[in-house]
Amino acid sequence: MFQFDNSYARLPERFYASVYPEPVEGPVLLKFNGPLAAELGIEADATDPQRLAAIFAGNVVPQGATPLAMAYAGHQFGSFVPQLGDGRAILIGEVIDRNGVRRDIQLKGAGPTPFSRRGDGRAALGPVLREYILSESMHALGIPATRALAAVATGEQVYRQTPQPGAVFVRVASSHVRIGTFQYFAARQDVDGLRTLADYVIERHYPALRQAEKPYLELLRAVAFAQGELVARWLGVGFIHGVMNTDNMTLSGETIDFGPCAFLDEYDQMKVFSSIDQGGRYAYRNQPGIAQWNIARLAECLLPLIDGDQDKAVLSANHVLSEFGQRFQNAWLSVFRRKLGLSGEEEGDGELVQALLSAMQEGEADFTLTFRRLCDVAAGAGEEAFLSSFKERNQATTWLETWRARLERERGSQEERSAAMRAVNPAIIPRNHKVEEALAAANYGDLSFFNRLLAAVERPYEDRPEFEVYTVPPKPEERVLQTFC
Ligand code: AMP
Ligand code: MG
Ligand code: MG
Repeated sequence: MFQFDNSYARLPERFYASVYPEPVEGPVLLKFNGPLAAELGIEADATDPQRLAAIFAGNVVPQGATPLAMAYAGHQFGSFVPQLGDGRAILIGEVIDRNGVRRDIQLKGAGPTPFSRRGDGRAALGPVLREYILSESMHALGIPATRALAAVATGEQVYRQTPQPGAVFVRVASSHVRIGTFQYFAARQDVDGLRTLADYVIERHYPALRQAEKPYLELLRAVAFAQGELVARWLGVGFIHGVMNTDNMTLSGETIDFGPCAFLDEYDQMKVFSSIDQGGRYAYRNQPGIAQWNIARLAECLLPLIDGDQDKAVLSANHVLSEFGQRFQNAWLSVFRRKLGLSGEEEGDGELVQALLSAMQEGEADFTLTFRRLCDVAAGAGEEAFLSSFKERNQATTWLETWRARLERERGSQEERSAAMRAVNPAIIPRNHKVEEALAAANYGDLSFFNRLLAAVERPYEDRPEFEVYTVPPKPEERVLQTFC
């Protein structure tokens, strides 16, 4: 069924633990991503739901699979843990997709591994469906993210605070190598392991760097830039990852680990949803600084490879870290310029964006709705609707005047501008209250809310009257204050 070619399994044995999924009692296929399966070259004649359920639950290991749990370490909320690893995820293999890109296929919740510590190796239905919706939404928004291939119910219960239905999530990633993977070898002073891993990542994600004079320094730079771009894109849609630990940051620049992540409703730059983020370390506004901090941890791992002279290595790594700041700023400004319909670049554009965000903060304006309604204002309509998002309108009213004055120096018609803005300012994000509603229903056996929400988030930039309910901010009593992973 899969044309596996498993490069990670060919790395030295200390990179992973070989482990088979633990079969479950009653696998049932809940959702299967047909278009993604086709992209991955999964044979159509194998799409019998029972067979798919058996494979994705881990009961049947397909031919050519080499199941393994990856070793990694990581900083969790700033504290270093020298061994984490896949405690409940099993990489069954890799396929080369239609575009020639190597993709990992991983079962999350497929049973214990040597890295499980006190965990049960399992996943509950709610978080599995949450990751399904959030990751597919990110992809549809055009933001690099791991993908959802399938969700399977296990027919078994898992025990969190209460018993919950168990499930397995099938995740597809362009790889699962994380900053924490490098930290695992650095913590063991295993320079050979580090070099093997770095070469693997260059080969897989940044092949052009093979020819570079200093490939490992260029690898650091490439990852720093990819992460800078990624976080700029997150901020552009009001996304808060929630657990930006170094083991949750990929070398590929894809968003990974959709645990307690959430999208903003009303704009608040210090917003935190995650119940485990007590200090607000991973608040909306802190994300670029944290990404830079994480890249510094990657830099520390790469130092022995960057230059034989460690003083020189530190100097050049520090240079990359300072470039990150500028690179992020440029990426951020470019994201928000497009959101405001600006195709040209002027000195004061950054202040113009900040002034709108400040009005939104002051007026507790809904992030997604404000920008979507601005697309109407760009077309010469809907000013009242735009302003009605703000509890305190004065700043927003003044801001509109400044923005219009700025638009006078732009090319293109109103219609063109409005259309371009609609292509970057989504109408539909997976609003927290809608996600919670879908998960609650699923826990009672009703997947209709999940299916409908998924259909909504899959085409986020279109106005579809039948999905209008997903564009509306929560009523006060519907607001979700905390998310859990
Ligand atoms: P996360 O917070 O999802 O990034 O996970 C942090 C670490 O905890 C990783 O090593 C996971 O594999 C591990 N982990 C999370 N949940 C479980 C579980 N139910 N059983 C075993 N390990 C787990
Ligand atoms: Mg993780
Ligand atoms: Mg997680």
